[in-house]
Amino acid sequence: MKYSKLFGKTIKEISKEETSINAKLLTRAGFIRKEVAGVYNFLPLGLRVLNKIAQIVREEMNKAGGQELSLSALQNKENWDKTSRWESFDALFKLTSKFEKEYALGPTHEEVLVPLVSEFVSSYRDLPIYAYQIQNKFRDEARAKAGLLRGREFLMKDLYSFHLDEKDLMEYYEKMKKVYTNTFKRLELSSIETKASGGTFSDFSHEYQVICESGEDEIIYCPGGDFSENVEIAKVSEGKQCDLGHGPLKKAKTIEVGNIFLLKDKFSRVFNLVYKDKNGKDKFVQMGCYGIGISRVMGAIVEVHHDERGIVWPDAVTPYDVHLIILENAKKEADKIYKELEKAGIDVLYDDREETSAGEKFADADSCKVSSE
Ligand code: ATP
Ligand code: MG
Repeated sequence: MKYSKLFGKTIKEISKEETSINAKLLTRAGFIRKEVAGVYNFLPLGLRVLNKIAQIVREEMNKAGGQELSLSALQNKENWDKTSRWESFDALFKLTSKFEKEYALGPTHEEVLVPLVSEFVSSYRDLPIYAYQIQNKFRDEARAKAGLLRGREFLMKDLYSFHLDEKDLMEYYEKMKKVYTNTFKRLELSSIETKASGGTFSDFSHEYQVICESGEDEIIYCPGGDFSENVEIAKVSEGKQCDLGHGPLKKAKTIEVGNIFLLKDKFSRVFNLVYKDKNGKDKFVQMGCYGIGISRVMGAIVEVHHDERGIVWPDAVTPYDVHLIILENAKKEADKIYKELEKAGIDVLYDDREETSAGEKFADADSCKVSSE
């Protein structure tokens, strides 16, 4: 890609409205533009990063047996009434069309997927099923000042698992813990698996938390890696000695990049999602759900990986592998290198501008270091 032709370049000043580090740096470097509070447009550089994150997550979900699908964002109100979440889901966007029909704008997809799965499940032979999507979610969040960390429209990967019994559900849940840790490792985020409340469905859930001052969450954790709880549920406090001798427990502010939940038969009961077991007896399907905030991950990566000059993308998600800059009188050589790199299948951002000083080019490159040197 030639920088001279790139849609979305580095700018020097950004509006004072952006207060978070991720939104400031991403806006300055030409990756995103705010539409309204909590809603961002992704320019070509930003979309490349988002797609790379999504692709890593997709590969990991496929390895875990996931089948990708795409569910509707405009959702049937009746199903939200059935689960009572039309009233109880705080951040639900409710739309009324001019034809006087009401819709939910999807913040999550149990109300769509569970009735759909029930069409295809009748016998124990039809299970398990693991289905996921990577799709925009809509939530009418009260606070949306943290850039990509908390959006009103944001990209999420949500996987739902459907099992014969709780034992099979628990086995898959344990497997997904490993998949999540590995996924965040590939994204160069050190995530801490953290016990958190389970909401209305079960006693606990697990969150994947990344230590960061700008995070909204707080955890108490063991630096040796064997214990972490969200402060919302933690019964121990900072400073207590770890049982395994790793020293005192610490407290840190964190960003929740993923969350896994046991749903058990909560939704199966509402939508009568049942199967016949080997003895011909009807049983409720057991479910789990597993989310990763893809656009929040992008914001978290920026919060964690930047220096005083700008974003320092980890190799795994960098928009381009090489940032090639022409200095004076070297156009011919630079053109040649650009062509060779492209031929070799390497993604190059080529700063071919002729009227721009070398200093300015280096500064622009620093604001969004597209490769790790
Ligand atoms: P939070 O506790 O941050 O409000 P949540 O627990 O409601 O999130 P889930 O419904 O479990 O989130 O969604 C799965 C993942 O989607 C979260 O772990 C997070 O990474 C991401 N996510 C949730 N809400 C938002 C949002 N408003 N903007 C960006 N990402 C989000
Ligand atoms: Mg949460």
